[in-house]
Amino acid sequence: MKFSDLDLDPKVLQAVEEAGYETPTPIQAQAIPHALMGRDVLGIAQTGTGKTAAFTIPMITILAQGRAKARMPRSLILCPTRELAAQVAENFETYGKHHKLTMALLIGGVSFKDQDKLIDRGVDVLIATPGRLLDHFERGKLMLTGVQVMVVDEADRMLDMGFIPDLERIFGLLPFTRQTLFFSATMPPEITRLTETFLHNPQRVEVARQASTAETITQAVVRHKPSRKDRSDGDKREILRRLLRNEGESLTNAIVFCNRKRDVDVVYKSLKKHDFNVGALHGDLDQSVRTRTLDGFRSGEITVLVASDVAARGLDIPSVSHVINFDMPIHSEDYVHRIGRTGRAGRKGKAISICFPHEEKHLAKIEEMIGKEVPKMDSPLTAEAEPEVEETAGAPEPSEREAARASRRRARTARGRKKDEAETPEVETAASEPEAAAPAEAPEAEEAPKERRRSSRRRKAASDDPRDAAPVEDPRDAAPAPRAAERNAEREERPARRERERDRDERAADRSAERTPDRNADRNDRGGRRRGPVVGMGDHVPAFMLREVNLERILGRSVSTEDDEAESDRRSEAA
Ligand code: AMP
Repeated sequence: MKFSDLDLDPKVLQAVEEAGYETPTPIQAQAIPHALMGRDVLGIAQTGTGKTAAFTIPMITILAQGRAKARMPRSLILCPTRELAAQVAENFETYGKHHKLTMALLIGGVSFKDQDKLIDRGVDVLIATPGRLLDHFERGKLMLTGVQVMVVDEADRMLDMGFIPDLERIFGLLPFTRQTLFFSATMPPEITRLTETFLHNPQRVEVARQASTAETITQAVVRHKPSRKDRSDGDKREILRRLLRNEGESLTNAIVFCNRKRDVDVVYKSLKKHDFNVGALHGDLDQSVRTRTLDGFRSGEITVLVASDVAARGLDIPSVSHVINFDMPIHSEDYVHRIGRTGRAGRKGKAISICFPHEEKHLAKIEEMIGKEVPKMDSPLTAEAEPEVEETAGAPEPSEREAARASRRRARTARGRKKDEAETPEVETAASEPEAAAPAEAPEAEEAPKERRRSSRRRKAASDDPRDAAPVEDPRDAAPAPRAAERNAEREERPARRERERDRDERAADRSAERTPDRNADRNDRGGRRRGPVVGMGDHVPAFMLREVNLERILGRSVSTEDDEAESDRRSEAA
């Protein structure tokens, strides 16, 4: 099949040809004809399958007829993250370049005022994250009754991020007669329920799930047991550096994935200190910084991009030679997503994961899912007896550490400690590195001179990096003796509970990350009435908010906080 076989607007066809595409991808070939006929489509496809064009191309053809009215967008595309929304907007520009369709992008980090102006004039396409869209709606600047075509992109990610209640509400604000194009990589029960309620006799189109990993990707895992608990973080970073260096010229660029936002910051700073050409991407960074970093990575100015799952999700970055999992992903499907950043379009790619003992369980789940073992490779740390010269050179003198700490304290005071308080669990503030929570673009007060060496004795005694002063009492790492275990459990219980409570609050806050207080109030009742249909978990506490509590009941002990934090990060990075 060719694009010209599809009944597309000639100007869209021309734009598609100019983009260099001749043959529709399977999801496009299946979805476009139904979308053009005005049917609802349920597309089950992952990123990388060409799904964005599968909805933008027919939409442009449909929207080519008719004109936008003030404040009444003619179509709406909902995306879980800002980056995805921006990517969809780019697709619209590419395929719609011969049309005069107008577009507004409602995402966090973009000013309300500018978007308001666009909406006031009338837009053909509104691309938004759910929270931000509802914010605009609440402010009375937007009417959704003119929406003819509605797209939900990456619905399962929205579920992950707790956006389902927002989605339900948005569905309720749209005209009943609209056409819905609904895309999701997976179909968990909550999503199925949503489609059963809000889609009208949809045509289901599905492309093979990427449950297996592409053959063009060479996979490997470094399984390493740190010699000392308190060296765990430092060891990981050293392994990462060695992996990056050992790959030599075959590494043209790499994405390094971390599970937690604060580790993105720490790894970014560490690599920077060690002279890597590096950028960082996670949801807490300012939108302009994120855009700049992505552009830099795409253009080749930045070689190594340290990223969280959510921030890098669905991003279309061609030609990534390496993916490195600094942490084993907690969710097996994230492994497939992560390593799918490389080896795209038939190119060769390499994916190396670093697995420490506490992550073995994640590795096992991943291997079960992809149906094969990830080949093991020697740890670059145990392969060589002596640590790298660069590593020792980067370590500051104790006095410098003190100075760096003081400087960090100053920097933190200047930031009003807001960030630290928001991100760092109380239990860790005393023992862990305060700068771990600093945003990547924060001044690098602790930058150390590069070419200093230290004696091998000091090398052993001192940590390799001020950030390596990891919490000695990491509940996850501690392997206490039986009696001490009880004491530790007691000691940990209180802060762990506080952390759980904080975490729950955070998650609840994440669900409404973009809401105004007004809107929250409005969601439940205005004039005592409940608004819009409520489906699935819309009116209930989502299961994920209860998960850890249940786990603890089952295990009879407190659970790892690192994974919880990673989970919490995933949600808080929502738009
Ligand atoms: P997506 O799944 O929408 O993230 O798209 C993945 C990549 O496939 C993007 O870089 C698109 O530009 C590209 N693409 C989309 N449609 C086609 C096509 N028909 N032929 C070749 N590449 C395509």
